[in-house]
Amino acid sequence: MSLVVLKFGGTSVGSCEKIIKVAKLIKKYHKKKNKIIVVSSAMSGVTNDLIKKSKTISNKFEKSEYDVLVSAGEQIACSLLAGSLMDIGLKSRSWLSWQLPILTEGNHASSRIKKINTKEVLDFINKGGIPVITGFQGISINKRITTLGRGGSDSSAIAIAKFFNADSCIIYTDVEGVYTTDPKVNLRAKKINKISYEEMLEMASLGTKVMQPSSIQDAMLNNITIDVKSTFSKKSGTKITIENDDFNNKVVTGIAYTKNDAKITLVSVVDKPGVAANIFKPLANNEINVDMVVQNISANGKETDITFTVKREDIKNSLKLLKKNNKISYKKIIQDDKVSKISIIGVGMISSPGVTYRMFKALAKKKINIMVISTSEIKISVLINQKHTNEAVKVLHQEFNLD
Ligand code: ASP
Ligand code: MG
Repeated sequence: MSLVVLKFGGTSVGSCEKIIKVAKLIKKYHKKKNKIIVVSSAMSGVTNDLIKKSKTISNKFEKSEYDVLVSAGEQIACSLLAGSLMDIGLKSRSWLSWQLPILTEGNHASSRIKKINTKEVLDFINKGGIPVITGFQGISINKRITTLGRGGSDSSAIAIAKFFNADSCIIYTDVEGVYTTDPKVNLRAKKINKISYEEMLEMASLGTKVMQPSSIQDAMLNNITIDVKSTFSKKSGTKITIENDDFNNKVVTGIAYTKNDAKITLVSVVDKPGVAANIFKPLANNEINVDMVVQNISANGKETDITFTVKREDIKNSLKLLKKNNKISYKKIIQDDKVSKISIIGVGMISSPGVTYRMFKALAKKKINIMVISTSEIKISVLINQKHTNEAVKVLHQEFNLD
């Protein structure tokens, strides 16, 4: 008998009708003599709504109370789902994270799972029960409710698969799997059958919204194979595992984009040791994540320009910090938030020279200007004017034979 973890995202449990369908889907696994653990997210829209409410009460809503509030949606979804399973004759019950408990560490709103007590739930499974566990939530050592960051029920599912030593982990969602790029932007996007953890981690971090990036990292570290599938379609999904598709010798596996970046340029910064550190220190202290950075070689040996990107929601605060930073001097600050970051991702890049050139050439042919570049072994990202996003995705999709 194999143990499967079935995780359902917000849209999969988005209404009572959908929850009833999900219960029927779970029953199929039960009929095939599987042992099952169900993990559920909140009904779609509920978490957003709770966050909005916290902001209406206070724009400095206490983080520990924020976690109590925003984790509430999962309780509703899990009890409805357990109730629905019982209605079709199955033995089921819900578990809130603190009831196991699922122990977390780290800050409120971005905690990480450290340990899960499995005993009670295992006893229940061994007696033929189907536990429905709340995703997204945990409890800290101080007995405070915590959450795992937006989209965190993916992390819950991976951690549950790990601590219960599950044979498989299936992420049920509203898309059929992971695509070569966003099908909404490019109709030629194709479903990827198999993708490596590294590639998926880059895709998720660089804008592909299918799964929470840190959950992929956890799966990679623990070697847990993930299947991503659509709840409401019978089609096969995408397997996320150690190696990618052997038969597909493509250089690029997928193309991702983000539209929530903003670019800041400091013009004529003194070019001497310590300056870059002085610029970024206050940003780091305020938990502002700096992403892409370019610094020119100084032409006159005295001054240079530094350009970098931050998340758009951080731009106001970043500019404020830069302006009151008396450890740095510059002639002016230029900002631009009409930018997007386009990335090509693939382990095939490691062994194929000329990928950078092909990317730049394809963009140049469409007269798309590149503002900032950053690379790693398996990805190249460029920052461009936001209005060219769709066009850039399409031309790169074609250039790298993904059409
Ligand atoms: N309900 C949470 C959120 O909306 C967790 C999740 O969906 O995975 O972020
Ligand atoms: Mg979700």
